[in-house]
Amino acid sequence: MIDIRNVSKWYGAFQVLTDCTTSIAKGEVVVVCGPSGSGKSTLIKTVNALEPVQQGEIIVDGVTITDPKTNLPKLRSRVGMVFQHFELFPHLSVTENLTLAQIKVLGRGADEAKERGLKMLDRVGLSAHKDKFPGQLSGGQQQRVAIARALSMDPVVMLFDEPTSALDPEMVGEVLDVMVQLAQDGMTMMCVTHEMGFARKVSHRVIFMDGGRIVEDCAKEEFFGHPDRRAPRTQEFLSKIL
Ligand code: ADP
Ligand code: MG
Repeated sequence: MIDIRNVSKWYGAFQVLTDCTTSIAKGEVVVVCGPSGSGKSTLIKTVNALEPVQQGEIIVDGVTITDPKTNLPKLRSRVGMVFQHFELFPHLSVTENLTLAQIKVLGRGADEAKERGLKMLDRVGLSAHKDKFPGQLSGGQQQRVAIARALSMDPVVMLFDEPTSALDPEMVGEVLDVMVQLAQDGMTMMCVTHEMGFARKVSHRVIFMDGGRIVEDCAKEEFFGHPDRRAPRTQEFLSKIL
C-alpha cells in the first residue's frame, strides 16, 4: 500500500532524511518512533506529499507520488492524516467540519456527505455532538472528530503524527481506543507515536528512526521481545520510554 524507496530529503543544506526505505502492506499497522528531531514527522508527511523529497520514490496504492505528473490533491484525499493539533475549523460545526472536504474535494452532494460524516462520527462515539463547535469539545473529542473527518474521505491509508501527545493524560485513552478499533477493522496505518502500549497491542511492525535514518524496522514481537538485539540507539531510547 505504501512503498518508500531510498528517500532522501534536505532542508537547504541540512539533510533531514537519509536513504529511507520501507513498505507497508494493506491492513498493516506500523508504528514509527524515535527521538525528537529524528525526522518522523518529515517522513510521514512525505507519504501524502505535504513535503517533497529530492531523492527516491514513494508509491501509495500504486500511485507514484514523487512523479511530477501525479494529481496530488486527488492522492491526498485518499490518504487520511491526523496531526498532533486537531486542526478542525473553529468557525464550523462538527457536521460542517466532517462534510466540507467531501463536498469540495470529492464532489459529493451535501446529503451524501452528511450521511457519510455522521456515520464516521458514530464510529468514534460522538454522534451526540454533531451540532457543536470544536471549542465546545474537549481535546480528546476534537481529536476523535479529526479522525472521523479523515475517515469520511474513504482513505486507503491513515497517517497519524503523535495524535495524543498534545492531550491531557486523561484523554489519551479515548483517542487510542478509536485507533485500536480502526487497526482491528483492518485499516492500513502508519502512526508516529510513543504510546508503546498501542504499539504492543495492535501494531505489526515498529520502525525506529534516528538522525533522519531508519535504524530499525522489524516485527513488533522482535522489537519488544528482544531489545538486546536492537541497535544501541534503539536500546537507549527504549530504556527511556518503557
Ligand atoms: P521529529 O518529528 O522526529 O521530531 P521532524 O521531522 O519534525 O522530526 O524534524 C527533523 C529535523 O528537521 C529537525 O532537526 C527539524 O529541526 C528539522 N526541520 C523540520 N522541519 C523543517 C523545516 N521546515 N525547515 C528546516 N528544518 C526543518
Ligand atoms: Mg514530529
